[in-house]
Amino acid sequence: MVHLKSDKEIERLRASADLVGRTLGEVAALVRPGVSTAELDKVAEEFIRDHGAEPAFKGYRVGSLVFPGTLCTSVNDQVVHGIPDNRPLEEGDVLSADCGVLLDGFYGDSAYTFAVGDISDEVSALLSTTYESLMLGIAQATTGKRLGDIGSAIQTHCEGRGYGVVKDLVGHGIGRQLHEDPQVPNFGRTGSGRKLKTGLTVCVEPMINRGTASVRTEGDGWTVKTADSLPSAHYEHMIAVRPGEADVLTTFRYIEEALDVLPYELTTSVA
Ligand code: MG
Ligand code: MG
Repeated sequence: MVHLKSDKEIERLRASADLVGRTLGEVAALVRPGVSTAELDKVAEEFIRDHGAEPAFKGYRVGSLVFPGTLCTSVNDQVVHGIPDNRPLEEGDVLSADCGVLLDGFYGDSAYTFAVGDISDEVSALLSTTYESLMLGIAQATTGKRLGDIGSAIQTHCEGRGYGVVKDLVGHGIGRQLHEDPQVPNFGRTGSGRKLKTGLTVCVEPMINRGTASVRTEGDGWTVKTADSLPSAHYEHMIAVRPGEADVLTTFRYIEEALDVLPYELTTSVA
């Protein structure tokens, strides 16, 4: 069942979303060769708890599996749901950090893929294309459009550059639950799927691979990797559907400030 949110509920989701953004900003300031994902995870957990919230992923259950981290930290060929560990990050790695919080009964959820030191031009292009596809998808998330318009924008942009669009995992509604209906695929046909209504709040989160779209799950039951071991990228925003323009609830502003990079600029025209 889909829950459309009131303006009041959307403001509470914005507060949760903002805390996620600030937490990822703290993480961004620390990402460098030599730091471990377990260290980043500890900083994220403390920051979230210091701000009166709970990590949303820590203790998250799927059957008998319990996720142990505050962040999902997915390095290189890990697509999503990687478990923080003590292995130091290395120059040239890419790290997807996915963060969720529960603040005053409402969830926040956002992800960003970081370059660790200098990365190859090839991997840099994967990151920027994935980022662009997120923004192109969000540009479709307006009242009266359809879910397929979001997915089609993402898929067309990424497949047009020879990348694999992960189909096994999708975005989702969000609110008082971390994962609500509807599912938000990163693929689809223009004009197909559920009609988008004002007040629908969803996470748009393209997971894009350098090579094949195929993925497999590791023996830990969580970590999703690319089937061909080529790298993957993942960016995620929470948005509220509005007429004319989507309201982006999460922000990468804190990350961009920490990284001292210019805010994202769309390099392709939006149809
Ligand atoms: Mg997420
Ligand atoms: Mg999500």
